[in-house]
Amino acid sequence: MNRRLRNVKIVATLGPASNDYAMIRALFEAGADVFRLNMSHGDHSEIRVRHEIIRQIEKDLGRPISILADLQGPKLRVGVFANEDGEELVVGAPFRLDLDPAEGDATRVQLPHKEIFAALEPGSSLLVNDGKIRLTVKDCGADYANCEVVVGGVISNRKGVNVPDVLLPLAALSEKDRKDLEFVCQLGVDWLALSFVQRPEDVAEARELAGGRAAILSKIEKPAAVEAFDAILAVSDGIMVARGDLGVELPVQNVPPIQKRLIRRCRAVAKPVIVATQMLESMIDSPMPTRAEVSDVATAIYEGTDAIMLSAESAAGSFPIEAVTTMNNVAIEVEGDANYRDIIAAQRGGKKTTVADSIVVAAREIAETTDIKAICCFTQSGTTAALVSRERPHVPIIALTPLVGTARRLALSWGTHCVMTQDDVDRFKMAVVNAARAAQEAGFATADDQIVVTAGVPFNQPGTTNILRVAPCDERLIYSSDPE
Ligand code: ATP
Ligand code: MG
Ligand code: MG
Repeated sequence: MNRRLRNVKIVATLGPASNDYAMIRALFEAGADVFRLNMSHGDHSEIRVRHEIIRQIEKDLGRPISILADLQGPKLRVGVFANEDGEELVVGAPFRLDLDPAEGDATRVQLPHKEIFAALEPGSSLLVNDGKIRLTVKDCGADYANCEVVVGGVISNRKGVNVPDVLLPLAALSEKDRKDLEFVCQLGVDWLALSFVQRPEDVAEARELAGGRAAILSKIEKPAAVEAFDAILAVSDGIMVARGDLGVELPVQNVPPIQKRLIRRCRAVAKPVIVATQMLESMIDSPMPTRAEVSDVATAIYEGTDAIMLSAESAAGSFPIEAVTTMNNVAIEVEGDANYRDIIAAQRGGKKTTVADSIVVAAREIAETTDIKAICCFTQSGTTAALVSRERPHVPIIALTPLVGTARRLALSWGTHCVMTQDDVDRFKMAVVNAARAAQEAGFATADDQIVVTAGVPFNQPGTTNILRVAPCDERLIYSSDPE
C-alpha cells in the first residue's frame, strides 16, 4: 500500500457515489492518486466535507494525496428536474428550454443562460451531456427555444450543453468561478483546473487570483485552445485533454490525434498531462468495462500520459472501486510490456539546457546500465522531480521534499513516489541516508542495493540541482564513504 506498482497516475472524481471516508479511502487504496472535486456539482459545504475527508485519509495513511479542484468555467448547463433521475427524451418529441427556474419535466427544463437564446436560430443544434443527446431548434425567442429531439437519451440535473455552430460571447471566469476559486484556495487545493480555456490570457487571470496557492491546469476542450496550445502550455503548470467537450466541439475523429500530440508536447516541457472523460464510461452501470474502453485506457498509457481520469465512473457510478481497480490493472499490464518501454524511450526528447537537465539524464542512464533500484531526487519546487519524470526511467522515482505542497502536486506526475523529509537536511550525507531509508521503507530497495541520489547544494534553495551520487542503501557504508 505504501507504494504503487505502476507509474501512470489515476485521478478519480468524487461525487454522490464517493462521499464518505470509507469509500474515498477505498478508492485511494485501490489506486487513486489524485481526487478531483468538480465545482460544477455540489455546493461549498459538500466540497468542504470531501476536502476534509481526503486530508484525514492523507494523515491516517501517511501518504501525500493531491486534490484537484475543477472550476466550471463558461460551461452551459441545464437546470434541475423534479425527478432527480432525470427524464428520457425520445426521438421526434418536442422539448423546450427556457429561463424559468422551475423544476423540469419530460417537456421542458431551464437553461439559465440568456446570451444563448439571443444567439440561437431555428436549425441550430444543441448537444447535451457530452454530445449524447441532440436537439434541433424549431423556433426560439429571447427567453425560450422550442426544440425537437434528434438523438434521444436520459437528461438529468445540470447536464452540460454545447452549441458547436454558434459563437457565444463568454468570459473565461464567471462570477461563480471567482467565488469557487477563492473558496478552494482558502480550503487548500493543489491543482486548479480551468475549463474552456481559449487563450493564454485566460490562464493568466486565474493564476493572478490564485496567487501561488495552487498550480494551474488548463483543460483543452475548445478548438481555439488546440490552436493556441503552445502558448497556453507555456503559462500552465499542467494540461487536461478534456475529451468530452472536445469531441463535441470538434468532429470526434479529431480527438485521438490531438490527444497524442498534446501528450508529447507536455512531456517535452516536463509538465503533467491528464487524459480524461469516458475512459471507462460503461462502468457507470457495469462492473466490467468494454474491450474498447480497456484499449482506450491502454492507448493513453502507451502514449506516455502522466495520468488517466475517471469522471462519472467514480463520482456517480455504481462501481467506483472496480473502475479504479480496472485502471490500475490495465496500467500494470501495459507497463510490463516490452513494447511500452520501446515506445516511451522513442519519445524521449525535449530541449535540455540546464545542469539539472543533464543530471537527470545521467541519473536515468546510470540506472539503465547498472543495477540501481531507484532514482531519489531532492526537490523544492518540484521542478527536478518533473525533469526526472520526463525521462520516464524504468526504476522508481522517489521525490524527497520538505514542502507538503510540492509532494501533493507531484502526485499527478508520472512515476513519482513522494516522500516528506525534514527541512533541516543541510548535509549531503544526511540527505543520502534519508533517501536510502525512503527507498527501503517504500519497498523499492534493500540494504544490499544501490540507488542514485540527485540533490543541490546549498540545500533548500530551489533551482540548484548540481550533485549526482550513486550510493549504497546500507547506512554504515554511507557514513564511512560519503563526504560531509
Ligand atoms: P465537466 O465538463 O467539468 O467534466 P461533467 O458534468 O461532465 O463536467 P464530470 O465530473 O466529468 O462532470 O462527471 C461526473 C458526472 O457525475 C456528471 O455527469 C454528473 O451528473 C454526476 N455528478 C453528480 N453529482 C456530482 C458531483 N458532486 N461531483 C461530480 N459529478 C457529479
Ligand atoms: Mg468538461
Ligand atoms: Mg465530464
